[in-house]
Amino acid sequence: MAQVTRHGQQIWCNYHQTAECNLGDRIELLNGDEANGRAHLKGVAETVLALLKEAKYCQIPVRPIGAGWSPSPINVVEDGWLVETLRLNRTFKLSAKDLHADCDVGAESLLLVQAGATVDEVYESAEEIGRSLRTGGASNGQSFAGACATGTHGSVWQEGGIQDHVRAVQLVTPDRILWISPKKAILSDDFIAQTGSQIIRNDRIFAAAQIHVGAMGFVTAMLIETDPIYMVQNIQKAAKIKREHIDWLCRGEFRRFSAAFGLNEEPYFQQLILNPFDPFDKKSLLRFLYKRPHDASIPPPPPGQMGAGYDALTLLGRAMAESDWFKGEILQLAMEQAYPDNRDVDDPPAIATWGNTTEEHAPIASLFNGSVTMDRSKLSEAFDLIIDSFRRGGGCTVVTLRFVRQAQGLLAPAHWPDNVVIDFDGPNVESSHQGYKNVVEALDDAGIAFTRHWGKTNNLDEHRVKRDYEQNFANWKWAQAQVMPDAADRRVFANDELVKLGLI
Ligand SMILES: Cc1cc2nc3c(=O)[nH]c(=O)nc-3n(C[C@H](O)[C@H](O)[C@H](O)COP(=O)(O)OP(=O)(O)OC[C@H]3O[C@@H](n4cnc5c(N)ncnc54)[C@H](O)[C@@H]3O)c2cc1C
Repeated sequence: MAQVTRHGQQIWCNYHQTAECNLGDRIELLNGDEANGRAHLKGVAETVLALLKEAKYCQIPVRPIGAGWSPSPINVVEDGWLVETLRLNRTFKLSAKDLHADCDVGAESLLLVQAGATVDEVYESAEEIGRSLRTGGASNGQSFAGACATGTHGSVWQEGGIQDHVRAVQLVTPDRILWISPKKAILSDDFIAQTGSQIIRNDRIFAAAQIHVGAMGFVTAMLIETDPIYMVQNIQKAAKIKREHIDWLCRGEFRRFSAAFGLNEEPYFQQLILNPFDPFDKKSLLRFLYKRPHDASIPPPPPGQMGAGYDALTLLGRAMAESDWFKGEILQLAMEQAYPDNRDVDDPPAIATWGNTTEEHAPIASLFNGSVTMDRSKLSEAFDLIIDSFRRGGGCTVVTLRFVRQAQGLLAPAHWPDNVVIDFDGPNVESSHQGYKNVVEALDDAGIAFTRHWGKTNNLDEHRVKRDYEQNFANWKWAQAQVMPDAADRRVFANDELVKLGLI
């Protein structure tokens, strides 16, 4: 069994101080001393099952929590139990006998990951066995279950979200312990039994569990698929872009854009941070990552040279919020000073593994994060509209353009074949919220379809979620009812936000 530490009633605040709640209890879970991976998974799942049964009996809502990094209030619960998972952070290799005869993935490419392992811990575990993740977000402190819950993504334009790595999910409800996987079996029946679980092999239910938003049950572990280890070369610079470059990106001409500012080859990752007050007369911050074969003899350069971290923007963001007059200039100063060392095409190459492209993060100010995701081919049409409406709303955040392929999961915001994600990151002040609201209204008025990040500030409600996800929403609700047929089980996972979103 896992160890359970009860810290009692308290006020709890999420990582970026954007939501707080009065907890009935803060409960911490720690791994027990079981002999092997399967026993650990069984012990933790049985402990969680007992907690959920008790909560259901006492009618207390439960919120599983990872790093608490989501700025949206999906991770708070009033008068409920917050169950912390970050110390359920082990990863385990599998052997061929753990896999089903129908499984077409080699055991060497699979990793069992406990829910609370951070993205950084998973990067490290994968690299230790010569493997790598394909994508991830801008930072690495999220729990793997929490990151998948909201469809965390980066800007690898040929990949979707972090949840795309997941091949099976171990999930606990107040009634049972399950392994959910696609219909084509991956884990052997013996392995599943040894982890104390029942099996659901169903494509639709699995696609629902890939982005669970914390409303499908308590995730205790995931089976993830990794790639052979590779390295990336970082080019990172401040440069002025022209309006026509937005059109290139809209058409997916990434190589052409890269040739103009970086290397004359297809980038693996590409991101632009813009000053919305003057996107073409002031410099934008460009980052390209190019895939390279793994070479263990190359020592990793300092994190800054790999472009890891740019959150110092939030520091000066507070000053920007004080005065409209300063926004453009101060924002630019903040952008250029906060950006880690430039790495231009003529500099000695900065090359490291994927895990070295992010670094640890510390909260330095209350932060606003909002984003809209849309069909990439709408970028040219939407760009000026977004910038104009954002400025009219008095917004004081930077604007980042990121690119991702269609991501897996019924509730994946990146659900077009090719997507652009437009992020608004800055201080958590009224003008940031107002600028974002203006963007959302302007896109609606222009009839441009878009979705929003589950984990960021999003102003969503059930009506809008239904409209954005249509049949996928209905399918997700159907899947949730298969996993938890009893409405009382679903209510254990209720909090105000998930009820507002129509997910509970
Ligand atoms: C500094 C920073 C950088 C970020 N960068 C990016 C980025 O580059 N790209 C991007 O897309 N997003 C980004 N985000 C958003 C972040 O990745 C998501 O909000 C992510 O969901 C946070 O993971 P977490 O472990 O903190 O989840 P939490 O906030 O702890 O939880 C998120 C949801 O998942 C549920 N949950 C957590 N664990 C479990 C579990 N074991 N079982 C069931 N439900 C669970 C919670 O109850 C909650 O509903 C960033 C956020 C911050 C603060």
